Amino acid sequence: MSSSNNIKRCSRCGLGENTHGINLNSKDLCNYCSDWIPKENKVNFNTVDAANIIQNLVKSQYSQVTTNGKRPKHDVIVLYSGGKDSTYMLARLKRDIGLRPLAVTVDNWFLSSKSMEKQTEVLGALGVDHITIRPSLDSILELFKISANKVNEKEFEKFYSKYGIFCWPCFSLIYSSVCSLAKNSGIRLIAGGWSPGQINAGKHTSRNDGLISFSEVIKIYVEPFHQMILKVGSNSEIDLPVPQDGEGISLLPFFNYWPYDEAEIIKYITDEFNWDKPKDTDGCSSNCLINLLDRIIYRKRFGFDRYELQLANMVRSGHLTRQAVLDIANERLDADSVKKIAYDLELDKIISTQGSESNVC
Ligand SMILES: [Zn+2]
Repeated sequence: MSSSNNIKRCSRCGLGENTHGINLNSKDLCNYCSDWIPKENKVNFNTVDAANIIQNLVKSQYSQVTTNGKRPKHDVIVLYSGGKDSTYMLARLKRDIGLRPLAVTVDNWFLSSKSMEKQTEVLGALGVDHITIRPSLDSILELFKISANKVNEKEFEKFYSKYGIFCWPCFSLIYSSVCSLAKNSGIRLIAGGWSPGQINAGKHTSRNDGLISFSEVIKIYVEPFHQMILKVGSNSEIDLPVPQDGEGISLLPFFNYWPYDEAEIIKYITDEFNWDKPKDTDGCSSNCLINLLDRIIYRKRFGFDRYELQLANMVRSGHLTRQAVLDIANERLDADSVKKIAYDLELDKIISTQGSESNVC
C-alpha cells in the first residue's frame, strides 16, 4: 500500500500524477490546469438573474407545446435523491423560480433511511408531487454485481474511471427511467443538482443555452452500460429499461445557472427543513450508503479517489481550495463499515485484501 502523501501533485488543483490521464509539466501544472480556459463565470449570477434565466429556458422548451395548447401538468422532472443539493434545488425551483416540478427518486435500496424519512417532510413542506421508482432488490444487486465484476476489463476502463463502479449502473437506471417518464408525460426538461465539478455541460452539448440534449446523455452514458449488460448475457433478474431516445428532452444542470455555495445550501435546508447530514453515509455522499464501497473498489482499481477529479474541477472554477483535493486523497476509508454490503453483493473478496482501512490501495 503506497501513501498518497508521496505522490507529486499539481500545484494548482492538487491532482496527483497517479490520476488517470494526468501529466505534470515542468511547472508542476497538470494538463487539465494548463489547458483550462475560464468560461463565463455563471456562479457570479445573483439568484434573481439565475431565476430569470431558468424561467426563460423553461419557456423556450415549451414554446412549441404552448402554441398547441398542450402544456403538461409539470414543467420539469427533478432528480431528487433527498441529498443536500437536490433538496436545495427542488426548493429553489418551486419557491424562487415558480416552476411546477415533479420530484422523482430512483430508490436503489441503498439510500440512507434517514434521508428517505426527511424526503417526506421536505415534499410535504414544498407541496411537490413525487414519484419513487424502485426496481426489485434482486435486479439492483445483479446490476451492481455485474458492474463490479467487470471493473478490471480494459474495454470498460474509460467508463469506470469517469462514472464509478455503482454510479454508472445507478445513473443508467435513473436516466432510462426518467426518459420514459418524460416521454410519456410530455415533460421536456429534467433538472439535476450536480455540483459544478460533477458534470461538464460543455462536453456534452453544442447548444449555446447550456442545456444538455438528453439524447446525448443516453448515448454516452446509458447505452454503453446497457450494451455491457447485454454482452454478459440475458438474466431474468435484471430489470433495466431499454434506453429510449431522449429527443426533445433537455437536461438542466441547475448549478450551472444557480450559484453553488455549499455553506449557503446547508444553511438554507437546515433553516427551512431542519435537514442534517445522515450519519450512515461517507463524507462524499449525503444520501447513498454504497458510495463508500464504490470508492474503495475504485481506489483499488485505479490507485486514486474518484472524487479527486470532481473536486479538482471545483478548485479550478474557484469553488474550493486545493486542500479539499488533498483531504479526499488522504482520507482513510473504513472498509469494515461496508462489509455487510460487500457480502450481500458477493464482493467481500474484493475488499478483504485491504485490511480494515484503505487509503490508496
Ligand atoms: Zn491541475
